[in-house]
Amino acid sequence: MTKTPRAYNSFEMAQTQFDRIADLLDVEPSIRELLRHPLREYSFAVPVRMDDGSVRVFRGFRVQHNDARGPSKGGIRFHPQESLDTVRALAMWMTWKCAVVDIPLGGAKGGVVCDPHDLSMREQERLCRGWVRQIVRDVGPVRDVPAPDVMTTAQHMLWMLDEYETIEGGRMPGFITGKPVGMAGSLGRKEATGYGVVFTIREALKEMGIPVRDTKAAVQGFGNVAQYAIDLYTQMGGVVTCVSCWDQKAQTSFAYRKTSGVVLEELQAMTDSFGGIDQTRAREAGYEVLPGEEWLARDVDILIPAALENQINADTVGRVAPRVKIIAEGANGPTSPEADAVLDERGIFVIPDLLANAGGVTCSYFEQVQSNMNYYWTRDEVLGKLDLKMTAAFVAVSDLARSRKLSMRKAAYVIAVDRVAQACRDRGWV
Ligand code: NAD
Repeated sequence: MTKTPRAYNSFEMAQTQFDRIADLLDVEPSIRELLRHPLREYSFAVPVRMDDGSVRVFRGFRVQHNDARGPSKGGIRFHPQESLDTVRALAMWMTWKCAVVDIPLGGAKGGVVCDPHDLSMREQERLCRGWVRQIVRDVGPVRDVPAPDVMTTAQHMLWMLDEYETIEGGRMPGFITGKPVGMAGSLGRKEATGYGVVFTIREALKEMGIPVRDTKAAVQGFGNVAQYAIDLYTQMGGVVTCVSCWDQKAQTSFAYRKTSGVVLEELQAMTDSFGGIDQTRAREAGYEVLPGEEWLARDVDILIPAALENQINADTVGRVAPRVKIIAEGANGPTSPEADAVLDERGIFVIPDLLANAGGVTCSYFEQVQSNMNYYWTRDEVLGKLDLKMTAAFVAVSDLARSRKLSMRKAAYVIAVDRVAQACRDRGWV
């Protein structure tokens, strides 16, 4: 998958972002010390019996950054370049994300160093069950509730739930979210992150007085977040002219351009379950194939990075076209602090990850609520509640940004860090 430069460290970036807000809020040293680091972290071995009878030992992680506001919540990522520091960063971002949309949950993240492209479904099932066996004492519906992330799906969540329930004895669907609909999953969950991104874009455009139908966008990624963002954005009348994704065969990324607008269903029909588009079929369908990083340089109004972290950085930010007005961060941590400063100077309206992609965890929270009640809502009910939550959070962040002359990212962080710090004080932790 994506090769990130050696010097880049997501956790250092997450800490830098936090430090700047801690300075701005002038929080006491004890809070700063508490929130700069995870409360708890687990690193463990997951031995898996492979189909050929051999045993491979995978590295697994779970990091619980903070649970002052409620049980920890966060996805599990399967990725060959997964590292404890990446998981720490993602766990910290989850704490802020839950706080900014004001749901009563803390932040966590998990992962396994592996490439599911190279594993059979049975091997992946054993890996999921093995991960749960190692961490079962420290997770659960009232402690820490996992969910899917990059390269993990509803099926992986169901295997993990089944293992957890087998060990604990009983049915506890509130243990994990992102489950299949009909197996304690929530309607609307698969759309939630991408739709949430577009709810925030809609609100930003409303503030700018620009109709969605007059805008064009380019998207990095063609997985869960990207596909549903494209779905709702095009339903609202926007045109996506370019998407990019990882090509497993070529071991690099490509961008697929159609200036008249990419057709979602057409591309979906030639995309594998990892969000990789078949290059030959795309060419046949009239898509121009460009180097992967070209998505960033398109002459569009909106950029939606929805793949991995550190994609808009000091080296690439100069390629962002003058026409770009909004960057909506579907991915976690796609913009480095250096690039962020440049975007700020250029007056580009950045909808930060902790707000833009919070639809996923918000709907996961709705799934948890439904699972714990064992009573399930309709899709319209779920998506309606999601729109309300996302819109309210956007308006609160945007109001604060305007009144205190802060960037959207800083304003979102101020709201989030302030809420978490207050919960720690209220509990008497500091
Ligand atoms: P996914 O695995 O479904 O899709 C990832 C996509 O990124 C794939 O299309 C892949 O080909 C593409 N990709 C990988 N490397 C690339 C590269 N170098 N250039 C271009 N494309 C590349 O993952 P997802 O669930 O859509 O998650 C995407 C991002 O959104 C991640 O940062 C994730 O943490 C974040 N996120 C996901 C959710 C969720 O609910 N799924 C919620 C919040 C945040």
